[in-house]
Amino acid sequence: MSTATVEAAPVLTHEQKLDRLAEVAVRVGLGLRPGQEMVMTATLDTLPLVRRITEHAYKAGATLVTTLLTDEESTLLRYQYGENEGFDHAASWLYDGMAAAYRSGAARLAVAGGNPGLLSQQDPEKVGRANRAMSAAYRPALELITRHDINWTIVAAATPAWAATVFPDLPADQALEKLWDAIFVASRVDLPDPVAAWREHDAGLHRRADLLNQKRYLALHFKAPGTDLKVGLADDHLWLGGGMNAGNGQYCIPNMPTEEVFTTPHKDRTEGYVTSTKPLSYQGTMIEGIQVRFEGGRVVEAKASKGEEVLNQMIGTDDGARRLGEVALVPHSSPIASSGLLFNHTLFDENAASHIALGQAYSSCLKDGHNLTPEQLAKLGANDSLIHVDWMIGSGKMDVDGVTADGKAEPLMRQGEWV
Ligand code: ZN
Ligand code: ZN
Repeated sequence: MSTATVEAAPVLTHEQKLDRLAEVAVRVGLGLRPGQEMVMTATLDTLPLVRRITEHAYKAGATLVTTLLTDEESTLLRYQYGENEGFDHAASWLYDGMAAAYRSGAARLAVAGGNPGLLSQQDPEKVGRANRAMSAAYRPALELITRHDINWTIVAAATPAWAATVFPDLPADQALEKLWDAIFVASRVDLPDPVAAWREHDAGLHRRADLLNQKRYLALHFKAPGTDLKVGLADDHLWLGGGMNAGNGQYCIPNMPTEEVFTTPHKDRTEGYVTSTKPLSYQGTMIEGIQVRFEGGRVVEAKASKGEEVLNQMIGTDDGARRLGEVALVPHSSPIASSGLLFNHTLFDENAASHIALGQAYSSCLKDGHNLTPEQLAKLGANDSLIHVDWMIGSGKMDVDGVTADGKAEPLMRQGEWV
C-alpha cells in the first residue's frame, strides 16, 4: 500500500471560488471555442456569477456573449394580473431566435438558480398551460440541445430563495453561504486544480459507461421499498457519462455537477411500479411522493402526495410524456448524496440518486443516433415528447440488476452502491 501525499487545498475567498466556478464552466463544462458566440440564460439574482462567466467567455475568445435574464418577481405578476387566455401564449419569437443562434454556431450556457418553488402557490391549471405553451415554443431550440448538435452546459448559482428551501432553519445570509459552499464542493472548485480534477472525474464516468456498453443489457431491474420496476433498454442503446463531443465538434460536459451514467430506455418496455425518493422541482412547483405504475412502457397510474395536479398536467403534455426517455445510475455515495442535503433542484438531486426521466430521449444515447431519422429513432424505441423531466428513484436501499440477453440477472448495484 502506498501513502499518497494529499496536497492541502488552498484557502480561497468566496470571490475566488466564484471566479473558478465561472472559469471551469466556460473552459471545461462548455468547451467554448475561440471565435464562438455564446447565449446565456439566467435569473436576475445570479448576476455576480453571470458577469464572471461573461468575463471568462471573452477571455476564452468568445465573439459575443448574449445573456437573457429573467426576473422571477415579474413572472409572478403574470399570475397575479395576466389575462386567463394569455397562459396559452409563449415568446416563440425568442425561442426561435435562440434556435437560430445555435444553428449559426452559438454555444449555450444556462445558469440554474432562482426559486425552485416560485409557482407553488399559483393555479396549477395555469402553470400547466404556461409550461405546455413554453415547451412547444422551445422545442426547436431544445432539439438542438438534446441532440447535442451544439456544445452546452448548465451550472448553478445559489440564490436566497433557493437557499431558504435547502436550509429552512438558518438565517438568510448563512443559508446562502452554505448553499454556495455546497455548490463549490459539488463543482470541484475547492480542489487545488479544479480543471485536472474534472478531467479525472470525467475519465472515471467514461470508464463506467464503457463497461455497461460492453454488457448490452436488455433491461434494468430496480428493487427498493415502493419500487419494483423493469426498464427495458432501447435497441442499440448507448451508455453515456461525463463529457461528449457535440455535433459541432466541441467537447463539453453538459451538466456541472455530473455524477450519472445514463442511457435511453425502450419507450414500450417498462413494466412495474416506482416511488420517487426525493421531491421534484418542476417549473416552479414541488412534486413529492410520486408513485407511478407502468404498463407496456406507458404510465397508467400516477399519484403524488404533493403537487399531484401538476404531475398529471405534466404527463398529459403529450403521449411521450407518459413514457421514459432516460434512465440513469448514480451511486448513493456520490459527493452530492454524501452532503446529505436535499437541494430541491434537479441538477443536483439527479446526481445524488439513480433516476428516470419522462419524455424526450437523447438520440446521442443510441448508436449513430445523430444520423438517424425520427422514424428510425422511434423504431429503436427512443421516446419523443415536448418534455424531459428527471426524477429520483435511487436510495441506499436500492438494488439494481442488469438483465442479459439470455434472461439472466447480474447484480449492478446493491444498497445503492456499484457491485
Ligand atoms: Zn439524468
Ligand atoms: Zn435527464
